[in-house]
Amino acid sequence: MKVHLRMVGCRLNQSEIDTMARQFRSLGHDIVDTPAEADHTVINTCAVTNEATRTSRKLIRDSQRANPAGETTVTGCYAQIAPRDISRLPGVRRVVDNASKSHLVSQITGEKIDIIDSEPHERDAGLGRTRAFVKVQDGCDNACTFCVTTIARGAGASRSIEEVVREVNYLNRSGYQEAVLTGVHLGSYGYDLGDRDGLTHLVKALLCDTDIPRLRLSSLEPWDLAPNFFSLWANRRLCPHLHLPLQSGCDATLRRMRRNTDQRQFRALVKSARAAIPSLRITTDVIVGFPGETDDEFEQSESFIREMGFGGLHIFRYSSRPGTPASRMRNQINKRTKKDRSARLLSLSRQMEQRFAQSQYGRRSEVLWEQVSGAAPEGYIVTGYTDNYMRVRTTHPRDLTNIITTTQLGTYTEGAIHGTVKEIAPQ
Ligand code: SF4
Repeated sequence: MKVHLRMVGCRLNQSEIDTMARQFRSLGHDIVDTPAEADHTVINTCAVTNEATRTSRKLIRDSQRANPAGETTVTGCYAQIAPRDISRLPGVRRVVDNASKSHLVSQITGEKIDIIDSEPHERDAGLGRTRAFVKVQDGCDNACTFCVTTIARGAGASRSIEEVVREVNYLNRSGYQEAVLTGVHLGSYGYDLGDRDGLTHLVKALLCDTDIPRLRLSSLEPWDLAPNFFSLWANRRLCPHLHLPLQSGCDATLRRMRRNTDQRQFRALVKSARAAIPSLRITTDVIVGFPGETDDEFEQSESFIREMGFGGLHIFRYSSRPGTPASRMRNQINKRTKKDRSARLLSLSRQMEQRFAQSQYGRRSEVLWEQVSGAAPEGYIVTGYTDNYMRVRTTHPRDLTNIITTTQLGTYTEGAIHGTVKEIAPQ
């Protein structure tokens, strides 16, 4: 069977799609680039904003238009909260809720799978994939007032350490150089298994029982991290990049969002992290235009964000999601104001990213080269990422894809640092 896979949204959705691709391939099916070539299309949807649901619907319609004879399976957070609407769309064969998603490939093919136990499938290697997203938990027990994810994904549920170690070993044997641990609420990994230090234990096990060259953590809620957590970074295979979603830098807004942090706690956390981890890059998420966010609140937020000196921001305009407490709050903010605040933070983000990149000038970093992006008289133009997740570009006589090199970092232009390769790690 020919299968086309699409996703909207976060790294968790990406990790699920990557896993499905490996599962389909392990059963001998082909992954194709367009719905027009496919017998079956799988769409992993998102509902985090109105824009995300619109994009999800558009993907379903486009897939049907491109191939009226093909079948479509829809899953993900939008499918979870609006299954009836989705099942009425043309060409939709099946809607799979988030809880059943791990069996989706078996449901479509009627075949049983245990990919992790199998040896790497021949067709898995050499696909140009260098970094794999590994889902280690799902769901969240918090109640941030803007968040529809808890409605769509349910309570926290973690995979066992043994299972994650097996998967990462499998990925390593398949040629991946980096595993990124992901989850809806990654910092709560293990809570449901009765282990309040679950993430620490998981990271230690992965560093000890796998040889994956690089291990990275995706988004971590700031209130989950104890200062001694950062001692894990004594092992240089753990990448010095933390994405700590702040959402707002104003305490009053944070209280309305029901976030379990404030300026004082966040500042202390950032200080301990920077003291423990050399060359650490910290990035964050910010929502602008949350209900009731006055000009004064926004300015407090902006000034705190500047003080934190992040290495970059992901900025979201608040989007009212049905069923959430924030959607019922008074003083919803108009579009114009959200747009202006978003533009202000975007400009701040660019300045902060540039400042961080300049601070890296002259440093030697391990760079994982991910793809060839062009050609020059001296060779291939290759792009990749440093350990602290800055984009790097170089020109080299060899195609360096999926190779880690020690690289000297130079000037930053057009969203990437110029790198000079100094040493190529033995394969
Ligand atoms: S921590 Fe808050 S924002 Fe994150 S998934 Fe849980 S409820 Fe949503």
